Amino acid sequence: REAANIAARSRDNLRCPIIVIMGHVDTGKTKLLDNIRRTNVQEGEAGGITQQIGATYFEPSTLLNRCKKLNDTEKLDLTLPGILVIDTPGHESFTNLRSRGSNLCDLAILVVDLMHGLEQQTIESLKMLRSKGTPFVVALNKVDRCYNWKACANDPIRSALAEQEEGTVQEFRSRAEEAKVQLAEQGVNSNIYWEMGDDDWQSSDFVPLVPTSAISGEGVQDILLLLCRMAQEKLWRQLMWCGNLQCTVLEVKAIEGLGMTVDVIVVNGTIREGDKVVLCSMDGPVVSEIRGLLTPPPSREMRVKSEYIHHKEIKGALGVKLIGNGLEKVMAGTPIMVVGPDDEEEDIKAEVMSDLTSLTDSLSVDKKGVMVQASTLGALEALLQFLRVETKPPIPVSSVGIGTVYKKDVTKISIMKEKAGFEEYATILAFDVPVDKDARAAAEENGVKIFTADIIYHLFDHFTRYVEEISEKRKQDAAAVAVFPAIVKILPQHIFNQKDPIIVGMEVFDGILKVGTPLCVPALGGLHIGNVVSIEMNGKEQQTARKGASVAVKIVNESNPTITYGRQFDSTNMLYSTLTRQSIDALKANFKDTLEKSDWKLVVKLKKVFNII
Ligand code: GDP
Repeated sequence: REAANIAARSRDNLRCPIIVIMGHVDTGKTKLLDNIRRTNVQEGEAGGITQQIGATYFEPSTLLNRCKKLNDTEKLDLTLPGILVIDTPGHESFTNLRSRGSNLCDLAILVVDLMHGLEQQTIESLKMLRSKGTPFVVALNKVDRCYNWKACANDPIRSALAEQEEGTVQEFRSRAEEAKVQLAEQGVNSNIYWEMGDDDWQSSDFVPLVPTSAISGEGVQDILLLLCRMAQEKLWRQLMWCGNLQCTVLEVKAIEGLGMTVDVIVVNGTIREGDKVVLCSMDGPVVSEIRGLLTPPPSREMRVKSEYIHHKEIKGALGVKLIGNGLEKVMAGTPIMVVGPDDEEEDIKAEVMSDLTSLTDSLSVDKKGVMVQASTLGALEALLQFLRVETKPPIPVSSVGIGTVYKKDVTKISIMKEKAGFEEYATILAFDVPVDKDARAAAEENGVKIFTADIIYHLFDHFTRYVEEISEKRKQDAAAVAVFPAIVKILPQHIFNQKDPIIVGMEVFDGILKVGTPLCVPALGGLHIGNVVSIEMNGKEQQTARKGASVAVKIVNESNPTITYGRQFDSTNMLYSTLTRQSIDALKANFKDTLEKSDWKLVVKLKKVFNII
């Protein structure tokens, strides 16, 4: 069998490339996908495009038919058995999926709004594609928004441009040029695809730009044909058909009448009814027998959802629904492997679990940290990479999960509440997953925060803002306890009021004098003078005054209003801010950055004065 597999591997025997669509919100990803998938029943195209599970399959004849006008001049000899386009546009979770170590997606379309240029999410997608080495084309979409654009429905883009007035072409040119510059700023070399030289085409990281309109369809032929060309001319090695199953779980779903099912993309190889397979779950490997391989009915008019087509075997690349026992806990984004007659089941189990194992092992370092829950293993990896490596400072993660957030997850992370100063880690960052109702209630009750988002960056934003809020609140709480270190000298010629309240001129001799600070005279047995209630400098109210400043200070002593300047104390006594162990701890925890080195030195000095150990 192995020999047969090797023999079958050749450039003439390729599998379908798997293609994803990515980009910033509102650039037209969904519209473009709709346009690409358009089934024009009148032209008899419906037959050549079939709905898969989580993907759409295009037959070669359909591709050639769609791209006919363009291919009359391009003359691509299509050798691919079709293409498979993943149905969920823009989803990071899908782009990051892997299948036995290699990317699930062979090619990507990165959609850019020609009118807006590169946006936040475009740049995120760019980074992801480049880190995974996934080749991609950039669709410069909404070309029809150029002033005075004359629609040439579904035409190749060059024919459409030839129909436009000079001003329109000029606008397109300058916008495309702008996009090119912005891409260059991200380190990406690009050019309008028909103006690329041979060297550019050969270069592995040169990116073709294709102007498109997802509304009127100009340039869609170009995108399709270009992707086919890239796939068969550049990616044929990874597309060679082989007998070894490469298969990734997209989603685990309960379906009425079928029970728990697993939607998968069979990337390469064959999966058969009756196969013994191993899948990955949070609780360990799951061994199951395939009891059914299903695809949706061919006609989309079909209303009855449960009427799937049953298959005896499925060859990659294809999207299919699996039925079997024990699939409840299987995780999206993980591989499925068949246990063959010569295989050791234990080896297969270890391999299926390996990605998750290495991920959870890497977590053991963060004892204090947030919980991260993601829709797929790939998404989880991307998120962890972002939080723990790319974020400065990193956000520690203490536990991870895949799929819906349940009450037990809330309970688990709520223990962070008990660790003083780490309340912010009693947080669940839920990336593109639902949150169970009971989990929400439990979170509310236990003061656990759950942030949900389907863009990694947004989760980071939510969390950062939350941490800022917490630290602000902590500062406010601590402000009541924390005492800034200060030594002040009374200026005897500026005594405005001798008691209740005392109002005197002072020079800050050392440290920072702050409103709220309790002042005392250590030389007089720690005599408490009162608390600073206001500070005025040059006629203006201040919250603080630093070393060297001359200020007018109002002091109130609530416990002993009879304290009088000139009686119990006078300008020969230096006044000190009253520090305690507690107040120093509060300072350290919350005002590290506010205080300067010299202030901390003063804290050390005052510790001695007040005998604080
Ligand atoms: P997505 O968020 O990237 O999936 O964007 P959509 O496909 O939902 O499109 C966002 C908006 O842009 C919608 O109002 C679309 O009608 C519009 N749109 C998308 N593509 C084009 C295009 O090529 N030309 C024009 N004029 N509008 C477009």
